[in-house]
Amino acid sequence: MKEVELPAFLDRSPSNCNVWRVWCDYCQRWHTHGAGGKDEDPMKTLGHRVAHCKPGGPYEGRGYHLVYGGLWQELPPAMRRQGLRRQ
Ligand SMILES: [Zn+2]
Repeated sequence: MKEVELPAFLDRSPSNCNVWRVWCDYCQRWHTHGAGGKDEDPMKTLGHRVAHCKPGGPYEGRGYHLVYGGLWQELPPAMRRQGLRRQ
């Protein structure tokens, strides 16, 4: 089965690394995944990840695939707070 693709938003604000922030519909929260060091190309860290979900979710055991969604700092503040909940 094809892996689910989730948009990942690049957050360069941590001082010692970059991180991807991924909205999870199942957990209803942002999950954070490493995007490498400051001197590395974060785009090379996209792709398959083990899910950071609470047990029993749709990604359990198979993970998901991160695709570039944009820059975290460019998301509206309300979206960063509340996530990408479906209306
Ligand atoms: Zn989750």
